[in-house]
Amino acid sequence: MTESTNRTADGVVVGAGIVGASTAYQLAKTGRKVMLVDKGAGPGYGSSSASSGIIRFEYTLLTSVIVAWEAAHCWADLGAYLQAPAGEALASFYRSGKIMMDCPAFPRAALRTYFDQLGIEYEEWDAAELRRRVGGINPGRHFPPKPIDSDAFWDDPSEEIGAVYTPQAGFIDDPRLACENFANAARRAGAETVYLTRVVGISAGRSGAGLWRLTLDSGAVIETPLVVNAAGPWSSELNALAGIGGEFAITTRPLRQEVHGVPAPEGFNPPGGIGPCVADQDLGYYLHPEPSGSLQIGGTEPECDALDWVVGPVDAVDLNRTAELFEKQVTRAARRFPGLAIPPRPTGVAGVYDVATDWTPIYDKTDAPGFYVAIGTSGNQFKNGPLIGEFMNAIIETGQSGTDHDTSPATYTGPVTGRTVDLSFYSRLREPAANSGTVAG
Ligand SMILES: Cc1cc2nc3c(=O)[nH]c(=O)nc-3n(C[C@H](O)[C@H](O)[C@H](O)COP(=O)(O)OP(=O)(O)OC[C@H]3O[C@@H](n4cnc5c(N)ncnc54)[C@H](O)[C@@H]3O)c2cc1C
Repeated sequence: MTESTNRTADGVVVGAGIVGASTAYQLAKTGRKVMLVDKGAGPGYGSSSASSGIIRFEYTLLTSVIVAWEAAHCWADLGAYLQAPAGEALASFYRSGKIMMDCPAFPRAALRTYFDQLGIEYEEWDAAELRRRVGGINPGRHFPPKPIDSDAFWDDPSEEIGAVYTPQAGFIDDPRLACENFANAARRAGAETVYLTRVVGISAGRSGAGLWRLTLDSGAVIETPLVVNAAGPWSSELNALAGIGGEFAITTRPLRQEVHGVPAPEGFNPPGGIGPCVADQDLGYYLHPEPSGSLQIGGTEPECDALDWVVGPVDAVDLNRTAELFEKQVTRAARRFPGLAIPPRPTGVAGVYDVATDWTPIYDKTDAPGFYVAIGTSGNQFKNGPLIGEFMNAIIETGQSGTDHDTSPATYTGPVTGRTVDLSFYSRLREPAANSGTVAG
């Protein structure tokens, strides 16, 4: 868009990650003339492209379990969900299954209750079953995670632990492609996608008609009654441009994280297949297999390790993976899988995600009419991408029809569970959620 091009739209979604692309899709389906704007060269080059894309159902709060389970069904038939034309290359949901190693934050009794209520298939494994089902695993108990350079890290395990196995869990093989799939669906529904374009200014319009004026780096201006901040780790910067956030009880800040690639240990992948995803808060890492059979290893942000909070502009973050974090995460995983060969050179990706005070996202209106936020996804919301668009659409429909979502919250009823989610669960004004207080939610 050039300087001379001033435009109007029924709504502008800033950010074409999984959150913005999904939101644009749902808003466009209602017949709104929507613009989806991203500074990147296409959809999904922010947090979403660095995502491990793991789809799991272990959360500490029932609402979060419902949402993850419902969303998994959208991923399972993505083509139908997005009404994609035959021939479009779609991101795939690999149901590799997943094991959640026993740990205090996720007691089996709570998981059992949630899974039984919702009909989520699971198996409870003791240490012997773990050994039988997961090649190369050592089921020793190490909790709480220790710094890898401490002697205590190498202490013998105090006992053995088991795990809860969910066969329907897995991962999305190409999170960036998934964003493109959602952006394509938004376009088919009538949205306009605008890339390589940064929103550099936001002000309430002078017309008095309740319009927002978004200034782009080209100098062009878009006028619109509806703005959705879906800017991921840049969301605080975008809110600051618009003067939004002063009333928020829950705040967000960006965190840098890395995921590393290593060959799978001998026996981890069954013949002709791939092994399960592993969440291991007992040691402080997680891993997922890739379709090729190699492993991606990430961190669960254990308390003993300092978190790499981003200070200053997100664009200034160094996205090269570091030998230090590689060693930390891969060494943790190697304690569980002693046969894991640690390559001499770090490989992997670095990314940034925006963390909310209580590691639960904010999907909400704000005190500025027409300005909405879908932010603070806290490293655990890629999996919920499809539903986030539906949530934002419901919240926006409520707000734009004159109902106050703060006092009469919008709801979402899941077609699979029949459960209704009160969307004030994601309110910016909430008390911090009583969850695990970690990236696991
Ligand atoms: C290393 C890592 C591993 C993860 N693993 C998992 C996982 O296994 N499972 C899971 O569920 N979640 C996971 N997550 C979290 C998940 O990836 C995020 O919750 C999700 O991708 C956030 O999507 P988003 O659309 O909000 O943000 P983003 O994908 O970052 O999208 C925001 C977009 O906004 C654009 N933008 C920002 N400012 C502007 C502006 N001013 N003008 C124009 N455009 C702008 C950016 O270019 C960007 O494309 C992980 C995250 C990371 C970093």
